[in-house]
Amino acid sequence: MTKLDSKIPEGPIKDKWTNHKNNIKLVNPANKRSIDVIIVGTGLAGGSAAATLAELGYNVKAFCYQDSPRRAHSIAAQGGINAAKNYQGDGDSTYRLFYDTVKGGDYRSREANVHRLAEVSTNIIDQCVAQGVPFARDYGGLLDNRSFGGVQVSRTFYAKGQTGQQLLLGCYSAMSRQIGKGKIEMFNRHEMMELVIVDGKARGIIARNLITGELERHSAHAVVIASGGYGNVFFLSTNAMGSNVSAGWKIHKKGAFFANPCFTQIHPTCIPQHGDQQSKLTLMSESLRNDGRIWVPAKKEDSEAIRTGKKKPTDIAEEDRDYYLERRYPSFGNLVPRDVASRAAKERCDAGFGVGTNETGEAVYLDFDAAIMRYGREDANIHGHHDASDDEIRRRGEKVIESKYGNLFQMYEKITADNPYKTPMKIYPAVHYTMGGVWVDYNLMTTISGCYCIGEANFSDHGANRLGASALMQGLADGYFVLPYTIGDYLANDIRTGAIPTDTPEFEEAEKSVKEKMDFFINNKGNKSVDHFHRRLGHVMWNKVGMARNEQGLKEAIKEIQEIRAEFWKDVKVPGSAEGINQELEKAGRVADFLELGELFARDALERKESCGGHFREEYQTEEGEAVRDDKNFTHASAWEYKGEPSEAIMHKEELKYENIELKTRSYK
Ligand SMILES: Cc1cc2nc3c(=O)[nH]c(=O)nc-3n(C[C@H](O)[C@H](O)[C@H](O)COP(=O)(O)OP(=O)(O)OC[C@H]3O[C@@H](n4cnc5c(N)ncnc54)[C@H](O)[C@@H]3O)c2cc1C
Repeated sequence: MTKLDSKIPEGPIKDKWTNHKNNIKLVNPANKRSIDVIIVGTGLAGGSAAATLAELGYNVKAFCYQDSPRRAHSIAAQGGINAAKNYQGDGDSTYRLFYDTVKGGDYRSREANVHRLAEVSTNIIDQCVAQGVPFARDYGGLLDNRSFGGVQVSRTFYAKGQTGQQLLLGCYSAMSRQIGKGKIEMFNRHEMMELVIVDGKARGIIARNLITGELERHSAHAVVIASGGYGNVFFLSTNAMGSNVSAGWKIHKKGAFFANPCFTQIHPTCIPQHGDQQSKLTLMSESLRNDGRIWVPAKKEDSEAIRTGKKKPTDIAEEDRDYYLERRYPSFGNLVPRDVASRAAKERCDAGFGVGTNETGEAVYLDFDAAIMRYGREDANIHGHHDASDDEIRRRGEKVIESKYGNLFQMYEKITADNPYKTPMKIYPAVHYTMGGVWVDYNLMTTISGCYCIGEANFSDHGANRLGASALMQGLADGYFVLPYTIGDYLANDIRTGAIPTDTPEFEEAEKSVKEKMDFFINNKGNKSVDHFHRRLGHVMWNKVGMARNEQGLKEAIKEIQEIRAEFWKDVKVPGSAEGINQELEKAGRVADFLELGELFARDALERKESCGGHFREEYQTEEGEAVRDDKNFTHASAWEYKGEPSEAIMHKEELKYENIELKTRSYK
């Protein structure tokens, strides 16, 4: 049986990474030229890894299913990226970023990894600035920062509301340089369908050319999975439509443990769902909580009047508003972490104070009025207009807000037809990010030798809840600054191996299994679309495995998911053929994997009999509705081993040791 070994280096936490780098094996530059590395996924994690490994001299083969790495889901990231630069002089440090991240994750992450993340965070900003990423600058020309939830410093670097896009363009330029030199062979429009293991080591993949439908064999000395998160198991999420779990799930079925599948982030500020036909949800960046105040009416009759269209939010007097985050969490106010803010919104809506006029009836307000007036007054003063009228102040304030969040406001108005400069935004929590994923050791290697996993796809450094602006930090840390060192330690043993042949039984067998799956879908001739099953899975996940979970609901969910899965294999209809472009066929494979993951996800949530971070079990809460952890029994990562059906998976525990941060009840009051 595979044994979990997290390979955390010995020594004081602040020296672990430095000592590790000093002691692991290196591959000399000449030898790197005879080593091939496959990278599945070219979002920020995979793209940065591909560029860096190629720059070091390795031969990289990179795969993505979009028509260009520039279209990875990473492009959607809006708000920013954290780094402990302390440019604001507000007391930030490596230790504080480490501490905030461990606490923010509700003490369910690996200390050594988080400390390393905090250490390398500052290098990321330097690297990206050198690439030309246009981070926002302050008046004096220095890089600007803003705050994100769960912290009391400003450490978030940003490029308006398009940080992911700008970072990805920087990363893509670094990749393009290597593509031009021939060091990265880029396979756009290719989907990894299977991992090939030879003599216990990951040695290649089977990929499907999504344009021609052909199956291709690709070999390498190591395989890196950087395929992003699996939030779309809920059908509706803020993720890109194509985001899926399949690459991670394929390696799981070949021996990689899957950790903490139930740790999902529900983001508090998304545009509420507006009907049953919707296939995507839209995020309103957390950066908006720097200036937006969240409230609902304090009186139920006002909420009712708003829901029925008899009153507008601007009709509600200041004293009749309940700024519930400021009331409940005075120290962090509107900038409490996402799990806390999401649950508080749900609590208000469940209690009848929601203001949603949409079909689901669930929404709270995110209001910029106070910020508009504050900034407007400041701006008027700067320009010597000390007795400016309210109208002038408002006009000036709106300009300031526009310069900070203009593209987000425009997006909101386009989707809802409401002008958020004049009336508060309506928001509600939605599935956004997955902290769970493929289990990796300190070197980012999975439980399959030579198979690595980076970025959102791994179980990562965020524990049970990720702090805002930390996903980009982790993906780029993994790709630019961690994997390029740690993979060398493994590849140093392969300098004499030579090219891995693909005409072997292992490749043959893997290709055959993929072909059989494709043929099955095309020939099944069922009567229900892939989306039909995906939508039903999403319903079960949201209602019973979503923001609040309980034993009975989870048991029901497991049974219902099993039933949907059985029906899927019987009744799914995939039109067209396996040759050429067939997006229904692509979706069928991905939904098949979601249907297995969904069950493991619910099992993981059932077994974790505590509330922590984004995992809220209704049985384990205080009278005030705060999460109650059980540190005695659950201070571990649950790493699941595949054994056939998800119901047969075996759970292994990685005990989490807190030697540098005291385990305490998380409080943002
Ligand atoms: C709307 C939104 C806003 C966000 N804003 C922020 C923010 O401001 N700050 C922050 O820190 N985080 C933010 N996040 C989270 C962050 O964007 C993601 O966690 C991060 O970008 C994930 O990067 P990644 O490289 O791991 O994966 P992705 O960017 O999802 O890339 C996955 C890659 O894998 C490829 N792939 C997947 N499966 C296969 C396969 N089988 N075969 C071949 N290729 C495959 C895809 O083609 C793609 O290239 C946001 C997320 C959303 C949804």
